[in-house]
Amino acid sequence: MRVAIVPCLKDNFAYLVIEGGVAAVVDPGEAEPVLAAVAREGVRLAAVWATHHHMDHVGGLPGLLAAHPGLEVLAGERDAGKIEGVTRALADGDEFELAGVRGRVLHNPGHTLGAITFVIDGRAFTGDTLFGGGCGRVFEGDPAMMHASLERLAALPPATEVYFGHEYTAANLRFAAAVEPDNADVARRVREIPTPSTPSTIELERATNPFLRSHVPAVIAAAGARGAAADGASVFGAIRAWKNDFK
Ligand SMILES: [Zn+2]
Repeated sequence: MRVAIVPCLKDNFAYLVIEGGVAAVVDPGEAEPVLAAVAREGVRLAAVWATHHHMDHVGGLPGLLAAHPGLEVLAGERDAGKIEGVTRALADGDEFELAGVRGRVLHNPGHTLGAITFVIDGRAFTGDTLFGGGCGRVFEGDPAMMHASLERLAALPPATEVYFGHEYTAANLRFAAAVEPDNADVARRVREIPTPSTPSTIELERATNPFLRSHVPAVIAAAGARGAAADGASVFGAIRAWKNDFK
């Protein structure tokens, strides 16, 4: 299995996941770059895997369905009704498949109520739930829900590659450095951000992403200075609120 990064719109990432000449596309924000990538890679597009219902992740669906009638379209069951052409709505733990390789869905509500992560072959396609050095805004859930979702992602094997939905890593790490000025891993990552910065790994996110570090004393202290209690959901909520206003 291999993955081709397909930049879309201003700073979105779609991904072609390729196995044995067959491809699935994750989060096609627009159709044209995806169709060009399919042609360039010489693969047959078989499926769309939608992490959530926002248009910058599924806006390419009409164009893809017009060019490839019969596409399988997978989405989380809580978001499926808001996404065109869904053929299968997935619940937490449901399996899916690409050319004989089996994956598993994690339901991670918070950014949207139906947000899911596609986990397959040591990779996690996290959409707008987990970013490089950050996380998505909590639009439909609440901080406790988003915190629980991120904790489940953090529990994936450390070597899992994280393919996220936007190129926000540099700005996210500026914020991470404000939360934890003494975190040497954050300082090193800031100096070494690749272009593009996707994929990351769970191990790197656990070391540098403040939204996976609500248990760390320095993060608890930073949240406490903003009035938060020491429990994980409160720490997460305070750090998320701080990030919303961070310039
Ligand atoms: Zn989104």
